[in-house]
Amino acid sequence: MMAMMLKEQGKLQYDDAVQKYLPAFPYSNITIRQLMNQTSGLPEYFDIAQGDMNPLDTLTNASLLALLAHKKPPLVFEPGTKWEYCNTNYTTLASIIEKVSGMSCEQFFARHIAAPLKLNNTYVYHLKLKSYPPSRVFGFSYDGSHYELNDLLRFDGIVGDGNVYSSVEDLYKWDQALYTEKLVKKSTFTEAITAGKLNNGENTEYGFGWFIRVPGKVVAHTGSWVGFLTEITRYIDRNQTIIVLENSANGYARTLIKNIWDGKPVTLPKTHVITNVKIIDGTGLPAVAGSVRVLNNRVWHVGKLTAFNGESTTDGKGKVLAPGFIDNHSHHDGGLEKNPSALAVTSQGITTIVVGQDGRSDAMDSIQQAIKKTPVSVNVASFTGHASLREKVMGKNLFRKATPAEIDSMKVLLSHEMDKGSLGLSTGLEYEEAFYSSRDEVVALAKVAGEKGGRYISHIRSEDLNLEDAIDEILAIGYEAKIPVQITHIKIAMRSKWGHSEKILRQLDRARQNGINVTADVYPYTMWSSTPRVLFPKKDFESITSAEFAVRELFDPEASVMVRYSPQPAWQGKTVSEIAAINKETTAQALLRIIRESAPPEQSGIVAKSMSETDISNFLKWPYASICSDGSMRGHPRGHGSFTRVLGKYVREQKLMPLETAIQKMTSLAAENVGIKNRGLIAPGYFADLVLFDPETVIDNATIENSTALSSGVEAVWVNGTLVYANQKPIANYPGVQVKR
Ligand SMILES: [Zn+2]
Repeated sequence: MMAMMLKEQGKLQYDDAVQKYLPAFPYSNITIRQLMNQTSGLPEYFDIAQGDMNPLDTLTNASLLALLAHKKPPLVFEPGTKWEYCNTNYTTLASIIEKVSGMSCEQFFARHIAAPLKLNNTYVYHLKLKSYPPSRVFGFSYDGSHYELNDLLRFDGIVGDGNVYSSVEDLYKWDQALYTEKLVKKSTFTEAITAGKLNNGENTEYGFGWFIRVPGKVVAHTGSWVGFLTEITRYIDRNQTIIVLENSANGYARTLIKNIWDGKPVTLPKTHVITNVKIIDGTGLPAVAGSVRVLNNRVWHVGKLTAFNGESTTDGKGKVLAPGFIDNHSHHDGGLEKNPSALAVTSQGITTIVVGQDGRSDAMDSIQQAIKKTPVSVNVASFTGHASLREKVMGKNLFRKATPAEIDSMKVLLSHEMDKGSLGLSTGLEYEEAFYSSRDEVVALAKVAGEKGGRYISHIRSEDLNLEDAIDEILAIGYEAKIPVQITHIKIAMRSKWGHSEKILRQLDRARQNGINVTADVYPYTMWSSTPRVLFPKKDFESITSAEFAVRELFDPEASVMVRYSPQPAWQGKTVSEIAAINKETTAQALLRIIRESAPPEQSGIVAKSMSETDISNFLKWPYASICSDGSMRGHPRGHGSFTRVLGKYVREQKLMPLETAIQKMTSLAAENVGIKNRGLIAPGYFADLVLFDPETVIDNATIENSTALSSGVEAVWVNGTLVYANQKPIANYPGVQVKR
């Protein structure tokens, strides 16, 4: 506006060279019009000044001009050939105005704009001025709990590109004046809101300090600097104007107001504050008393907060608030369609399940469609299963090595799944559909996952007889495929190897020191659950010698229960010893009978006791071990109790580790170990997956006899900011999403 006024006074011409007024300006081929239209090609001054300023310097228009003359930085493009927003254009214009008018910009502005329009709270202020009016506003930033000054910096001795202070009321007076000739003639102002032209005759979308949104109808400009965000949009044809001024740099208002104005659907921000909690934020740092505010589906503020007027509030009554737990190995997806509330999951504080385990997965698209068809309470992330890839490519005959052509086809399928957000490759090498695969086949596929930034998770080839070889194998896969590898549900399921956990963990630590990113996940039970066929590591299912070995080494027949047995449903719930007694045979003979009678298509499942508490404790404590359930909606009690069991039995009762460490293993470490972003911490911007629990009472209650008993002490669970579990009951909300890598 000041340049236009001086042009009307005949003191400058738009097409004059800048050098005519500023002889030190080092570019002879730039005109005033190009400055106004943002087509000069000048470089951005922040970058030029940054390297040349002493920390005590304050940049001014004069010192910037001297710097340009001294350094002569190259132009970004030939003047008039491109449009590019650049603050140096308008600071240079301000220097011309000062030169031509013989007064400072702030004086010219006060005399020729603020005074005639009676703008009482509008002025130019910069850091070289000794004082400022009491109405001066300061910029702030919000760090999650309190406001911090985010105001003028050492660049702000400069004017032209900013540093005009005003109020909404004054800007409205200014807007209205633009419809009159109080400042400049109509024809003069019309040029300001007409798109500038490039040398080739093409229109830009910018006039003089105005973006042309709809030619002749809508013009606008935004501003942002330190803790300030501003916007003016003028609907000239309707004589309506939006003015938004903010000094907290929260961009929400700009969009919101515009949507209201344009009649677009408006979602008002919904906040909820959880007060009076001990925050354990997932980093492993000690608990801090405070509150957490959620905005829509994300954490917004963390700290000492007071509820807004009328804000919905949960009083945490001094209990612990932690990030929702991330179950690193889950089979709960099998029951989600029937049980979208996923009570087994939410009741132990889990908010994200990681499925596609043991080499078996659904396609990413199928998971997405399933959640769309039947919305669920929990988030679902998935690996892509090796055996499922084999089945697609090799058909039914999986008890052999894949051919090179088959491996190529599997690589293509895996690559597509990776592009759809799969976390990586999962294998279940102990199971027969993958047991006969070669290591080269697995490495070739792991490489595909690794190149896409994914990870490798494996139920390794043996958890008993050949455990050492199986661990060597996963480390070799990590090394050869250059991919992070996770030993899932790490365990020692062989009596004579009990106590070897320390030796194994030392081997894993050495591998980590050698650059192999190996991690593990653990569930806190001495019993596993699977098909009884895994009790025959040599796959010799008719050998009485192997059955006797299994009874001696691999499981305790008196404490191991057939949880599923389709040939004789009456035996479900009986131990292998009880079945042996019924049939008047040895436990080894009973085991052979079970395997024989339940050959596919019959089905059987066993919860087998075979691990030692010492090994479980050692694995749980390992700094790179996260927590998993390996659970489903029924069967093994781990499906309902894994996480609460760690918190109650291992943390509170046995004091195995600090509560904060256990939470870290269930949240941020679990997220890290499988490659999930923006979940697993209570921090501004993270998804609001949260669990409120009582550390004094939290415990699992599920047992083999009553495997679906709910845990105690979990008071409330939120998924993506929405309550899904409270007072031992599911809440009928289904905010779960498919979580992608
Ligand atoms: Zn498994």
